[in-house]
Amino acid sequence: MARRPIAEIETSGARIIRRGFVTGDLRGQTIVLAASEDEALDDRVAEAARAANIPCNVLDRASASSFVLPAIIERDPVVIAISSGGTAPVLARRLREAIERLLPARIGALARFADGFRGAIKGLLPDALARRRFWERFFDSAIAEAVLAGDETRAREGMLTLVNRKAANDSLRSGIVHLVGAGPGSPDLLTVRAVQVMQRADVVVYDRLVGPQILDQARRDAERIYVGKAAGHHSLPQEEINALLASLAGQGKRVVRLKGGDPFIFGRGGEELDYLRKCNIAVEVVPGITAALGCAASVGLSLTHRDHAQALTLVTAEGRDGEPEIDWSALAKPNQTLAIYMGVGAAGRIAQRLIASGLAPTTPVAVVENGTLPDQRGVVGRLGGLRSLIRESGIAGPAIIFVGEVARNVGTGQAAVSQDWALAVGG
Ligand code: SAH
Repeated sequence: MARRPIAEIETSGARIIRRGFVTGDLRGQTIVLAASEDEALDDRVAEAARAANIPCNVLDRASASSFVLPAIIERDPVVIAISSGGTAPVLARRLREAIERLLPARIGALARFADGFRGAIKGLLPDALARRRFWERFFDSAIAEAVLAGDETRAREGMLTLVNRKAANDSLRSGIVHLVGAGPGSPDLLTVRAVQVMQRADVVVYDRLVGPQILDQARRDAERIYVGKAAGHHSLPQEEINALLASLAGQGKRVVRLKGGDPFIFGRGGEELDYLRKCNIAVEVVPGITAALGCAASVGLSLTHRDHAQALTLVTAEGRDGEPEIDWSALAKPNQTLAIYMGVGAAGRIAQRLIASGLAPTTPVAVVENGTLPDQRGVVGRLGGLRSLIRESGIAGPAIIFVGEVARNVGTGQAAVSQDWALAVGG
């Protein structure tokens, strides 16, 4: 343990007595910490404490201590203490970090929330066993999830309905849908919250871009339902996915709806959210790292590098069926970066439009396929040669096309740049 400067100790309100230790110092004390770093002195302090029946901890020496100081996680009023029995404080600290990562940030709020209803539930369910069952189910319920997701208003409403209706068991069964962004591919890029809800899920409903390594993070016995496109088949129509989510949550299940990247970036998360809200089903949205950000990071492409770009536009090459195509001429501007999703098939046409609208054919482009995954590939070139660049490199997607000056320096020398980065210069 690092020694704290004397000044810091003084301002903390502790009293410093500048002289050697005498046994009488222990009189009236409740606990004693010996931390002089002088072993003989610490032994004398511990001995005197033992004789006076006062618990004593000797810094870093469990054998000389009558109690050990655990590593503490505090989420007021919840406190978790981890101890290695004084054998390996660093291990205890590591365990603390691992537990902290898994622990919902609002666990303290959940305890306070439950506390607020303890009296009422006691009145409602006088039988101790029935009450215990109630609380067991409460902590798995959508109401508890709502508290953890920060929506105490909804949780309070749910709880009041529950208490008033005296129908404790039924409402507790109402489910929730977590609309979760799974990030660009690498499981390391999942958010802490995404992993938390996946580990509590009853069902995981997932898309094509969600890989097996991501799915592995879900609770082992959670049901997994694939709703993406299989080779040669269509994906489930959006209306059917909406209905499926509502029906699962209606059965009281905790549903994780996993989408690649971020659910609200070209992911139809908004449509699902609207539908579920209409059905009055609890929804939590967990953001994810969108593909453009993941791809840019893993090839060292600074999306808004101050020297080259003052704007970043995320754009999809695919309009909704029957809708007018995106106005590429409006996007053909200098000093900005375009990150084009779903653009591999239409790359030639997009490049043509951008050039026709004024972007120089020499504008740098970079294409990143399977970004952040082990089979990531990238190519760089010029806008004028984008189509042949993609065709010759055999890139078939999923890929992001970056257009703009910032694509120029990709793949040259940065430590973060992937090994598989191919410097294929087209155009
Ligand atoms: N919601 C997702 C995007 C879904 S649209 C997100 O926020 O990332 C699907 C498109 O995303 C793909 O056609 C491709 O353009 C892009 N994409 C998704 N994952 C990718 C990856 N690992 N590497 C490159 N592009 C990816």
